[in-house]
Amino acid sequence: MADLNALTSSAYSQALEVIASVEPRIAEATRKELADQRSSLKLIASENYASPAVLLTMGTWFSDKYAEGTIGHRFYAGCQNVDTVESLAAEHARELFGAEYAYAQPHSGIDANLVAFWSILAHRVEGPWLEKAGSKNVNELTDADWESLRHELGNQRLLGMSLDAGGHLTHGFRPNISGKMFHQQQYGTDPETGLLDYAKVAAKAREFKPLILVAGYSAYPRRVDFAKMREIADEVGATLMVDMAHFAGLVAGKVFTGDEDPVPHAHVVTTTTHKSLRGPRGGMVLATEEYAASVDRGCPMVLGGPLSHVMAAKAVALAEARQPSFQTYAQQVADNAKSLAEGFLKRDARLVTGGTDNHLVLLDVSGFGLTGRQAESALLDAGVVTNRNSIPADPNGAWYTSGIRLGTPALTTRGFGRDEFDHVAELVVHVLQNTQPGTTKAGGPSKASYALGDGVADKVKDASAEMLDKHPLYPGLELS
Ligand SMILES: *Cc1c(COP(=O)(O)O)cnc(C)c1O
Repeated sequence: MADLNALTSSAYSQALEVIASVEPRIAEATRKELADQRSSLKLIASENYASPAVLLTMGTWFSDKYAEGTIGHRFYAGCQNVDTVESLAAEHARELFGAEYAYAQPHSGIDANLVAFWSILAHRVEGPWLEKAGSKNVNELTDADWESLRHELGNQRLLGMSLDAGGHLTHGFRPNISGKMFHQQQYGTDPETGLLDYAKVAAKAREFKPLILVAGYSAYPRRVDFAKMREIADEVGATLMVDMAHFAGLVAGKVFTGDEDPVPHAHVVTTTTHKSLRGPRGGMVLATEEYAASVDRGCPMVLGGPLSHVMAAKAVALAEARQPSFQTYAQQVADNAKSLAEGFLKRDARLVTGGTDNHLVLLDVSGFGLTGRQAESALLDAGVVTNRNSIPADPNGAWYTSGIRLGTPALTTRGFGRDEFDHVAELVVHVLQNTQPGTTKAGGPSKASYALGDGVADKVKDASAEMLDKHPLYPGLELS
């Protein structure tokens, strides 16, 4: 077999030459991005490094093809190869996740959620409404009937996890469309333990009677019992939608099984493909047979033409995730998160929920006298890339915050193990202990400015470089 490293190196070197012949600054930025990603300690919990095969798949003429519609039923001619691509992506997704139906078209996680919302509305509200009215087609309704149906569609209830407990913007947060198109209420976590309290979720669901119960999160460092969530949904007649955008890799890698696997329990599951799943930037919807037909109408209901080049890359990434090595990777992601959490705890740092059992930890930086914004900036100065994140009942609000979210998927892809993640915790604590909060012009405490101690950034960068050099990103990939 050909040397894949050599092939990849020449493929990218030549591609960059072609790009440089048109706009050299883009070729230059692309080279620089690789260098930056190689030299920083990437702890952003939602990021990863897709394989060269996945990345190369995105750069083709599939981008040039319009293919609105569904497999074998397109609004454009000449879609036979897109059909092959989309069928393979869907087949790999069904096999990998054990799903009855998979829809590979959504362009992103947010788009996947919009498809899911409107599919549920179509199946549970529009369908029954049309049946009652003795009509099959919204185009045949009188204006008055149409107004009445629009009113029904626009007055449904959604219950999701609140943003400051770790939920996502698209789970009913008011500034997001999900918080405007639904009457929304939110469930939180226990103020003492930071953990989900299923009895409280159930009580809220009984009182609010949502059409859709959303489970899933972006910043909750624990597993969720989806069997319990389904029981709650069934009791109140809600559709259970699980957004596994963050932890799809742990589901694919069989780290989350049984009650922790959302696929056998949810009616509809949405995901991104670029986070722990390690595929191209995009989204996907899985569904039971019952919801399949309405999800399949995602285009043109919500989406325009699918990104066929990205669907092709989804198929490649899903094929990778079906290899046994992906299960080893996913288990290592979880083991590394444990080691990172233990590394913080033994250095007296406080973690929301006191630890983790997934791929991320949420560090409360208030004990260091800092806001999340100050901590994020000081860490970045030292080459440690994280993001600030609010913590439950955050006194600093959603902009400055009191937390830092750190995840293990990306560095685990590079080959970092438990010892290295303990060292990462040590470096992060070292930066935060040596960061002083700044003052405003008026002399009061600032939530943004800070001063990092002399020499700290260089020391941490040197220590990181040693680990990063031992675990190169895309080993063997050399650009000429
Ligand atoms: C990241 C994320 C999304 C959004 O994904 P995009 O691809 O950025 O649109 C949706 N839901 C959850 C839970 C996420 O973590």
